[in-house]
Amino acid sequence: MATNKKPGKWRSRTLAVRAGTMRSEFQETSEALFLTSGYAYEAAEEAEARFAGEASGYQYSRFGNPTVTMFEQRMAALEGAPVARATATGMAAVTASLLCALRTGDHVVAAKAMFGSCRHVIEEILPRFGITTTLVDGGDVDQWQAAMRPQTKLLFLETPSNPTLAIVDLKAVSKIAQKAGARLIVDNAFATPALQRPFEFGADIVVHSSTKYIDGQGRALGGMILCKEDFLKNHLQSFVRNTGPAISPFNAWLHLKSLETLDLRMRAHCEAASAVADFLAKQGKVTRVLYPFRPDHPQHNLARAQMEGGGGVVAFEVGGGKRSAFRVANALKIIDISNNLGDAKSLITHPETTTHQKLTAAARAELGVTSGLLRLSVGLEDPADLCEDLEQALAAA
Ligand SMILES: *Cc1c(COP(=O)(O)O)cnc(C)c1O
Repeated sequence: MATNKKPGKWRSRTLAVRAGTMRSEFQETSEALFLTSGYAYEAAEEAEARFAGEASGYQYSRFGNPTVTMFEQRMAALEGAPVARATATGMAAVTASLLCALRTGDHVVAAKAMFGSCRHVIEEILPRFGITTTLVDGGDVDQWQAAMRPQTKLLFLETPSNPTLAIVDLKAVSKIAQKAGARLIVDNAFATPALQRPFEFGADIVVHSSTKYIDGQGRALGGMILCKEDFLKNHLQSFVRNTGPAISPFNAWLHLKSLETLDLRMRAHCEAASAVADFLAKQGKVTRVLYPFRPDHPQHNLARAQMEGGGGVVAFEVGGGKRSAFRVANALKIIDISNNLGDAKSLITHPETTTHQKLTAAARAELGVTSGLLRLSVGLEDPADLCEDLEQALAAA
């Protein structure tokens, strides 16, 4: 297979379309889908050399696959990461990035406001292996500093967070990690590399659920871990090869091709979400709107400093708690009720009773997940239609 011309100084929109492309002998323009589990060798000696790491080439698709490699290389180019490994889901990426480097006695500091399953892995699974964790208010840099111990190996955060779109200061937290010789892992699923590149602010590892905006059309699950070479060599490589979170080549192909339109789609999501957020803020029944690029977001300046757009998710609260929130959701005619996000279709969910149902009431209160809160993933429909849909649903409630 011939590798693409060298990316050199290509800009991100060019990288999104061309980075990582490898062409087979047929010189196909669109990247090929290699649905194969195994690879044949010309001779037994070649198999021996590949297993010894002395010859390049594929051995088995749990270790690597040409379509998956193209997806990894393109994501690495977009995030500005030296290397990447794709996984079957975002949660496989999060879990592998944590477990591959931790051992009994280690300590992890993480921001409270994170995706429910990430919180489960950190709070429930890690302690079973003797790994202790401290959860902090991610927006308070002093809490990160105060939580550090000599045993702290990893810091984990998501920004903007789900569902309240809280922003964490990437530069400040990465400095704390660096000073302590610990690594910072950033879940970049909400922003995507089109809007935020955590490596530029000092992150050591970036994880993704490519299920969301990278796929962009709600078709397939996927994940990605991006890191530096030493982390891959010393921790991640053997972990993923032997535990098997490998992505299906078909899903990798879908997400690879989706990267070609990521920038265009994220611009449209941001533009629509921003219009919808401004519209919601003017509605009498809406008591609070959270959108990172609105001046009334508590960390608006920080969001502008580390992101190129506010993203596609808007959180808003209606007066009257759960009853009113359910009425609004049930009255919507275009926007679907779904806990997924990052789809071309606008999706709404009530976090208290879905994504954050497993948390205690006290933990939800700490995060600002109130009974009247709704999380809206603004899709690619005409924002004027979405505003009309929300207007009639608010009136019906
Ligand atoms: C969805 C999501 C995940 C988990 O990804 P899956 O692909 O569903 O496993 C992790 N982090 C964030 C921020 C997410 O939105």
